[in-house]
Formats: sequence, C-alpha cells, structure tokens
Amino acid sequence: MQLDSSVQFLKNVGPKLSKLFLKLGVYSIEDLLYLMPRFYEDRRKLPRISECEPDKVNTVVGLIESVEERKVKQRLSVLEARISDQSGVMTAVWFNQAYLKKVLKPFTQILVKGKVEFNLFQKAKQMQVSDTEMLRTAEDIRENVGRIVPVYPLTNGLYQYQIRKAITTAIEEGLKSVPDILPSYLTRQMNLLSAQEALKGIHRPKSDTDLQKGKYRIAFEEFLLYQLRLIQKRRDRKEVKNAPILNTTPLVLKSYIDSLPYTLTNAQLNAIKDIQQDVSTSAPMNRLIQGDVGSGKTDVAVAALLMAIGSQKTGALMAPTEILATQHYMKIKKALEPLGINVFLLKGKMKAAERKEALAGIQEGPCIIIGTHALIEDPVMIQDLGLVVVDEQHRFGVIQRLKIKKEQTPHCVFMTATPIPRTFMLTSFGDLDKTIIGELPPGRVPPTTFYMKDGNVHKAYEHCRLHLKQGLQLYIVYPLVKESEKMDLQSAMEGFEEAKELFKEYTVGLIHGKMSPDDKKSVMSQFKDNEIQVLVATTVIEVGIDVPNATMMIIHHAERFGLSQLHQLRGRIGRGGHESQCCLIASPKTDTGKQRLKAMVNTTDGVELAEIDLKIRGPGDMLGTKQSGLPDFKCGDIVKDEPILLTARKVAKSLLESDPSLSKQEHLGLKRAIDSEESIVMEETLN
Ligand code: ADP
Ligand code: MG
Repeated sequence: MQLDSSVQFLKNVGPKLSKLFLKLGVYSIEDLLYLMPRFYEDRRKLPRISECEPDKVNTVVGLIESVEERKVKQRLSVLEARISDQSGVMTAVWFNQAYLKKVLKPFTQILVKGKVEFNLFQKAKQMQVSDTEMLRTAEDIRENVGRIVPVYPLTNGLYQYQIRKAITTAIEEGLKSVPDILPSYLTRQMNLLSAQEALKGIHRPKSDTDLQKGKYRIAFEEFLLYQLRLIQKRRDRKEVKNAPILNTTPLVLKSYIDSLPYTLTNAQLNAIKDIQQDVSTSAPMNRLIQGDVGSGKTDVAVAALLMAIGSQKTGALMAPTEILATQHYMKIKKALEPLGINVFLLKGKMKAAERKEALAGIQEGPCIIIGTHALIEDPVMIQDLGLVVVDEQHRFGVIQRLKIKKEQTPHCVFMTATPIPRTFMLTSFGDLDKTIIGELPPGRVPPTTFYMKDGNVHKAYEHCRLHLKQGLQLYIVYPLVKESEKMDLQSAMEGFEEAKELFKEYTVGLIHGKMSPDDKKSVMSQFKDNEIQVLVATTVIEVGIDVPNATMMIIHHAERFGLSQLHQLRGRIGRGGHESQCCLIASPKTDTGKQRLKAMVNTTDGVELAEIDLKIRGPGDMLGTKQSGLPDFKCGDIVKDEPILLTARKVAKSLLESDPSLSKQEHLGLKRAIDSEESIVMEETLN
C-alpha cells in the first residue's frame, strides 16, 4: 500500500476510525507510522496474581470469573470483578466507570493495571483499576502482553488496542516503502538505524536499546531537516542585499553618547559594534539583543536608530505597551531634540488631531518614530525606513515579521530581557544573530528577595515603612491573568484601598490595564516625580518602567506569575544604587510552586531563572506553544534531546558547507524532504 494513502484502507480501520485518527493528526499510513508513543510499558514479565506487590501499581493478566455492580452512593457506582490466574484470585474494582459493564464479561481475558491492596476485611487482594485492556483474541494477547508495549496518545472513542492494531497493520503493509532520506555515509558514520529499523524499534521494541536507537534516529532526522532549513533561510536572507547601507559613525551618534551622564559599559559598546557591523552591509540585519533588565538596552536602541538618522533614513522603535512607548518617547525626545532630531509618538489610542500631527511630521523627512506594536499591525506609510528596533520582544511571542511597505527592507534589532535558552535559539529563533549584554552598569545593587505566606503580609507592609521613611518609593503588584480578569482587577482595587488605609501619610496611586492611556500616563509621571509614593499596580508595569527611587516591591499571589515575569517585575527596583527588596507573597501548594519561589530567592541571574523555568514548565508553557513558533517535532524534544539537536546542527552545517544547494545525488532525499516541508509551512501561513 502507498505511504500516502489514507489509513481508512488499512485492515481494522475503516472510515469511522480514520476520522478519529485524524484528530490525532494522522491521515496517511505514513502519519500513522510516525505517530510516536507517549511512553512504554514493560510487559515482558508480568507478575502473577500471587506475586503482586502490595501497595504498588501492578499490571496483571487474568480471567474474569464474575462481575458485580454496586451503587454505593447516589453518584458513586462501583464495578467489582473476580479475576483469576493459575496462582490465585483477586478482586478488581472500578469506580464510576459504569460503561465498562458492557465489556467486562465473565470468561474473557483482561489486563488490568492499578494499585494492589490487601483487604484485611475480606482477606483478599484487591486492585483499584486505573487501566483496562480487553484481551479478546490470541492476537490481542500477542499484541499487548509479553513485550514492551507502546502507549499512544488517545482521543475520545479511540482505544489503545485499536491504535496498536492499526500500527501493526501499517508496519506490515507500509513499512517497506518508507524511504531512507539520510545519506548512507552519514548512517554509517553515526551508526544510525535505517528509517525502517528505527520505526520498528519505536513501535515494536524488543529491548530498551531498540527503543533508544529508534528514537535517536527519528529525532535526529527531524532536527537535521529543521536545521538545514534554518541555515539555508539565514543564508538566503544574507544574500538578499536590499537593505540600505548605513553610516555607522554619524556625528549625532557621538553627540548622543557624549551627552549621556555616564559612560557606556563594555557590553553596551559591544552590542553597538555588532549593530554597526550589520548595518554596514546591504544584507538586512536580523539581530536579537539579550540583556537582563537594567542592562541599558535603550541606549543601544537609540544608537542604532541614530545610524539610520545619520544616513538620512527614518528609524522606528516599537514597544509592547503604551506606557513603555510613552516613556521611551519622553526620554528619547528629551535626549535627541537638542541634537536637532524630530521624534514622534504613534500608538493605538491617540487623539485624531495628535495622530494627524505626528503623521504629518513623519512625512517631512528622516525622523525617529516611537510606537506600540500597533505600528506593526497598522503600518503607516513610513518613507525611507532604515532601521527598526523591537523592544521587549518576549512579549510578542513569535518574532513578528514586520509588515512594512514591500519595497523597503529595513535592518531589524530585537531586544529582550528574557533569556532565550540555547535550544530555542537553535529552533524557533534560529535565523537570528545574537548579542548578549552580559553586564549591568556599575553601582547596581541586585534586590534581595524573600518570600512570605499570605498570612504574614502585614510584616511585609511594616517593612515598607522603612523605605518610605527614607523618602523612597514602593510598588505593590497584583497579578492580572486574562481568564479571571474581573476578579483580579477587583483584588488590585481592594489592595489599593487597603494601602491607602495603611499608608495614610503618603500618597497611594493605582494603575492597571483598563485605565485610559492618559490616566496611566499621568499616574506614571506622578510616581516618577515622587508625588505618588506607593503604587498599586497590575502587571502593566512589568516591562521597562524606570523609576530609580523605587526600592521595594511587594508581589501578591507570586505563585501565579512565571519566573521570567517575576524577574522582569523585580527588575523595576534596585536601579538607583539603593539597597532594594522584593517580597513575594505566596502560599504555593505544589512542589514545583515551591521550587520556583526558591529559585527566585536564590538567584538574581535571569539566564539561570529562564533555564529553571524551562525545566520546570517545559517549552510549550514557557513561550506558549502556539505563539512560540516552536516547530511541532514529532519525536524530538528540544529540552530533553538537546544533545541530539546540537549534533544535528553540526551535521547540517557541515553538510551545507560541502554541498550548499544539496544537489549531490546522496543529498537529494534530504532536499526533497526540505522542499516538501517548506510548502506545508507556506500553506499553513497562508491559511
Ligand atoms: P533595559 O536594558 O532594562 O532596557 P534601560 O535601558 O532602561 O535598561 O536602562 C536602565 C537604567 O540604567 C536607565 O536609567 C539608564 O539611564 C541607566 N543606564 C544605562 N546605561 C548605563 C550605564 N552605562 N551606566 C549607568 N547607567 C546606565
Ligand atoms: Mg528596556
């Protein structure tokens, strides 16, 4: 049978099941062969009933002797079956699974898995069943017992045994047509299985080695194809050469740097140097600049923008929030207007007249435009755009391809404080160059972090007074998560009332996302001018806000924030050379919750936190699978299989060096696979 024919033509599948398979992403026989088990159960040696270990999870095969149903309470139904083998008898119990009544028939073989207890009262072994598999035929037994059994992802209405059967048939009918796209010299050198052997190892492993080698081969192939595509894409981009060549040392750049009240750190200078190198050619820059909160990315951004200005081009800076855009605007305008440079602000909500004025100004000639990412969504006609900076990139999820007038190809820099783990760099962000600002300006005192249970929050507030008495300021932060927005807003409001009561002799302000931009702006500028001493806020203050006199932060429900988010928040304090403190209020209920808070207390290193976060939460959660732009690898896991990923990367590089267009005979399989994948991706983007 053809690999690309529908699974419905397989024996035991048919049109009804094939619809269910589709829900698992399986259309063709090939898809089915590449459906990876979620995990395995070693059923090579199952215990007999007499050998079951008490208080442990056991898997047992036996014969159903009798079945009984009991209604214990109104909502609790209990099924009980006596199950026997040559060694003894046990009672199997199912709670609230009345639908099994139809299948649990006396004199049929069954496999049950669950915790076994010795019931003193009945003097009998009893299993609380969590998994049930009916073994109706000799074939069922062969398939599901006495070997390492793969456990596949399920969907409602599709049973494990049906998937296993379908895969067995697919192996019989289709496996021999699976092509080997890896060049044979590579398979030999790396001692890899063939694709067919690998799939067999994955679906019908005889040993752990079969399994590991099988998985390695499939994961490697996936990663290799992906890396080949990435490297090619990056190479192609560099060959485009339609970006403007910029003046890297215009006078305005020198004037700006001279006007700063501090000297730039070496790390900032290096970042600027990298940008200078990028924009001195006509290959469009595509660089990610990663630097912890407070490392001074804004100055690097301004330096880049000035290279555009110095070449009679316009530069644009995009920020994720209106507050941040406004703050950038005020700061940058103040710094650049004396140098004779026009700076304009563009954001989503804006008075028509203001907008009109800004747009008119923009048409007048090279300038600097600062805006929210509405700038991206609703591209204005920007003449001669030379360079774009996207600030706090992590908030956007995927690196957004900028929608700019087609004929323009500006240079792009992305700034982020969230360290992107190496594996991400090699996958979703793989076509970016990267600079790290690994140094904070001198005199920074990293905040001390501690955590307190909900009940002790008054102690934290007491502590705040010490800061306030010295004329310093404080943030009180509440989470704002979409699903429970109303409730969260309410708790921030209540927190505001509470703080007003507690800190009567000070001015307390409130800021949250639902406020009008003007109100937000006015609260922020009052806080900045120390007219407000205590600011109650939702996470709108997360990024980029810069008030050096704020030295204490209390974060409520800290367990609801991601580690990177907490780190961002904490980065708002400790900017003015004062000792600062961050207090996390949380009552974590889970171990991971505790681990995360501990990590926050123990380290102020953003890179370390991001890696911990990645380990605890997994990549999908951390970046949000949908938004992350992470490819959907079938077999490889970019965290667990990092070594395979790195190997694939190396191999891809040397492969493309020896055969840049993959046109050698032995590479045609790879080329075909890449080209066909490319077309799938294209279709997805079009839809
Ligand atoms: P981030 O990397 O988080 O965007 P910012 O650019 O907002 O950091 O800088 C944080 C603060 O540090 C600002 O007040 C800025 O003026 C100041 N700053 C930046 N570079 C230096 C430096 N080299 N020395 C001293 N202060 C600096
Ligand atoms: Mg910043």
